[in-house]
Amino acid sequence: MTAILPTQTPMSETATTGRLPAFVYDLAELDAHMKDIRAALGDIELYYAVKANPDPELLKVLARHVDGFEVASGGELAHVRALHPDMPIAFGGPGKTDEELFSAVTRLHVESPGELRRLLASGRSADVLLRVNLDVPIEGASLAMGGGATPFGMDPQGIAECLELLAEQDDIRLRGIHAHLASGLDAPRMLELAAAILDYARGLGVTEINLGGGMAVSYADPGRRFDWQTYGRGLAELRRPGEVLRIEPGRSLTVYCGRYVTRVIDVKRVHGELFAVVAGGTHHIRTPATKGHSQPMIIREAGEPTTIVGQLCTPKDTLARRVPVSLRPGDIVEFIMAGAYAWNISHHDFLMHPKPSFRYVGE
Ligand SMILES: *Cc1c(COP(=O)(O)O)cnc(C)c1O
Repeated sequence: MTAILPTQTPMSETATTGRLPAFVYDLAELDAHMKDIRAALGDIELYYAVKANPDPELLKVLARHVDGFEVASGGELAHVRALHPDMPIAFGGPGKTDEELFSAVTRLHVESPGELRRLLASGRSADVLLRVNLDVPIEGASLAMGGGATPFGMDPQGIAECLELLAEQDDIRLRGIHAHLASGLDAPRMLELAAAILDYARGLGVTEINLGGGMAVSYADPGRRFDWQTYGRGLAELRRPGEVLRIEPGRSLTVYCGRYVTRVIDVKRVHGELFAVVAGGTHHIRTPATKGHSQPMIIREAGEPTTIVGQLCTPKDTLARRVPVSLRPGDIVEFIMAGAYAWNISHHDFLMHPKPSFRYVGE
């Protein structure tokens, strides 16, 4: 497969001039990435997990390639509905309020017997998938939502309880099983999980299986991308006739199309360590703070190891540590892999600095 390698080159002049910091989204890169993924997946249904980045311009490009959107709150549901009224929607997530639980969606992912009881008591109809948290070993994941005691989904006992509740009524239609067990796994590990989930679903006699998201991305090695070819081929082999398999990735779809572009304000040496202070910081892009990594960036000129920090008065406002880059005040800094879980997970109002601008290139 012609994986699109990250364009490790600086963005065009127009993208980096004007008000900084800015999030710059390359819609052409997203479009090409989605075409490759779609081709690799064949008949496997693809939903986009909107919580990774709900930016309307990104959703517009994604809508051309996905079968639906997965939302995890009433807010996301209203957002997607307003922009794409005809798109199929799957609604998941723990702690749904009645209003959320009773919304009309294509697929409702039931997270607990309690949710199902409320749904049944409402007298409404719905097409549901039961979210299972299978007891399977999950090694090498960056986050685990399953494989042990977590608040996500139900263990097989909880599922059995739901199946009893669902018997002898027709308002709530059991369509199948949903499982989103881990994130940060490569294709072979994802296929092993898929096999375990499918085994379990077949035991229940259901034919619609949502295998979740969580396909790995590497911030340490941006060129190492999830192997969609192997994954797509593997799922095609696992699938039996009559089965509908669906996945709902977020990060692996949109992370590569976004950059956070800013400017160096100050450079200083403190107790021997070289710091570059840039405009903005982790209140715009919390990703490096939450994941504990150095946000990958374009190195225009190599230099002495420099720690790149933002404007916040906290040592947590560190974007990248000891990067071998030469920076002077006024220089542009371009962080890559800023298209998912970046702006929308950040604490924008902390310290009341200005918000970034948003630019879209490539379309
Ligand atoms: C967050 C989430 C996803 C997407 O996860 P990624 O790691 O962004 O691919 C998919 N399904 C559910 C239920 C989620 O909570």
